[in-house]
Amino acid sequence: MTEGHYCSIHNTVFFKKGRMRGYAHPIKDEKGNDTGEWCNEEDLEKVKNLEPKKPIPPPLQKDEEPLPKSKSQEIAEHVWWKELGEMIRAKDIDLSKPAGKGMRTAYYAQMLSVLDIKIENK
Ligand SMILES: [Zn+2]
Repeated sequence: MTEGHYCSIHNTVFFKKGRMRGYAHPIKDEKGNDTGEWCNEEDLEKVKNLEPKKPIPPPLQKDEEPLPKSKSQEIAEHVWWKELGEMIRAKDIDLSKPAGKGMRTAYYAQMLSVLDIKIENK
C-alpha cells in the first residue's frame, strides 16, 4: 500500500510525476474512461481539514416571510387609498356624481375593512 497517497473517494492510488504540484490521480467515470479531470490529494487534504463541519443552521426568521412583491403592492394600495381620501376631503372628487359617490363609498368601505383587520390582529 502506498500509505498516505491513496484516494479513499475514488479508491485510487495517487501518483506524482514530472511537473505535478502534488499527488493526484485522473478521475475516471464508471466505465473506467478518463473524464479529463484530476483529483488532487492537496485538495482532498483541504477538504479533510475543514472537517468537522459545523451543522448547517436551520433557516432563521421563519416568521419573517419576505414577500417584497406583495408588500410593495400593499404599500402602493395604501398610497392609493390615502390619495383617494385626500381627494375626497379636498373635494377634488365631485360627490354629486355617481362616480364620486361610488369612490367615497369604496373609500369608507376600505377604511372600515382596514380597521376590522387591525382589531382582529390584536
Ligand atoms: Zn480521488
